[in-house]
Amino acid sequence: MKIPQCAPGRFYGAHSAEMEEAIRKVFAGGWYILGNEVRAFEEEFAAWCGCAGAVGVANGTDALELALRALRLPEKSRVAVPALTASATGMAVLRAGLTPVLVDLDQYRTMSVVSLREAFRFFADIRAVVPVHLYGQMAALDEIIPAAAEYGAAVVEDCAQAHGAQLHGRRAGVFGVFGSFSFYPTKNLGAVGDGGLVTCADAACCSELEALRQYGWSERFDSSEFGLNSRLDELQAAILRVKLPHLDKDNEKRRFLAARYTAGLTGLPLELPLERPQSRMVFHQYVIGCECREELRKFLADRGIGTAVHYPKSLAEQQAFAAASRTELPETERLLPRILSLPMYPELTEEEADFVIEAIREFFGA
Ligand SMILES: *Cc1c(COP(=O)(O)O)cnc(C)c1O
Repeated sequence: MKIPQCAPGRFYGAHSAEMEEAIRKVFAGGWYILGNEVRAFEEEFAAWCGCAGAVGVANGTDALELALRALRLPEKSRVAVPALTASATGMAVLRAGLTPVLVDLDQYRTMSVVSLREAFRFFADIRAVVPVHLYGQMAALDEIIPAAAEYGAAVVEDCAQAHGAQLHGRRAGVFGVFGSFSFYPTKNLGAVGDGGLVTCADAACCSELEALRQYGWSERFDSSEFGLNSRLDELQAAILRVKLPHLDKDNEKRRFLAARYTAGLTGLPLELPLERPQSRMVFHQYVIGCECREELRKFLADRGIGTAVHYPKSLAEQQAFAAASRTELPETERLLPRILSLPMYPELTEEEADFVIEAIREFFGA
């Protein structure tokens, strides 16, 4: 048996006719950038998510950069981000001309509110907070949003790993001023190339984003401000429209597989994912913590089971973020050498999940 850690091609295997028909329509329509597919997808995504509006952009990093730019913060203002996240989170802050402040994690592996409050006390100029819903787990927004408000900082959610995750029954992307999403092929909602989107709290935020994603145009051929070229294209939007109606069911399948992993691995010397109370995780990744990670990884690889480490280094250890400030990061440093992402995608079969469980049990002699 060969079980890859991720398998973005498996969706196509099951829905090839639908996907090919969708792109054939775009080819024949002759309109390839910001047309009906993108507009329809933005509306469908906003309705599904429960936000006022959504703006499609080129990728998830741009989505976060553009959202931060739309806040119009003074240059070099500080932005609090968790130390454990994709490099993209920190890079978007740098690209927006801002300075990251790295904060620690809580026991749910998302931004620690204790650490965030410490950062606010230490750095007077934190103007924005970017909680990352890491691995599909909602960050502690019940506490982060009031803390940010107390210090006058805006909240932008990094939802790249959390399409459909919920807190108190509301979906990721509706809590902050903006929410940034990525449609990188392995995300819970993935394109067949790059794509991204920003969810907006109101119509004014949407127009702001629409200008920023296209040359700063207030109208066609009239740049009234600085802007980028960061557009979602019609082909990707058409594919995403095919996939969006499957997302809730696919996230349920991820939850089912996660429950199976948890049941099969309970009792072993591993840290298993905890779900934050009042929330619904969407298990972008199923990440275990293991003292002997490298040995386990090799043992699984020898049995054809792919794993990954998200991530091998925190932002604090990456050269590009050397100028970032930080709080103490004890939980990040404790967790980092232990994390291991098991195979996780909706098309993973129960048999495959059981094979993974059995191999891990065998590793521990259980
Ligand atoms: C994937 C990801 C991004 C960036 O998305 P791209 O589409 O690759 O630019 C940002 N933040 C997090 C947490 C991610 O996982």
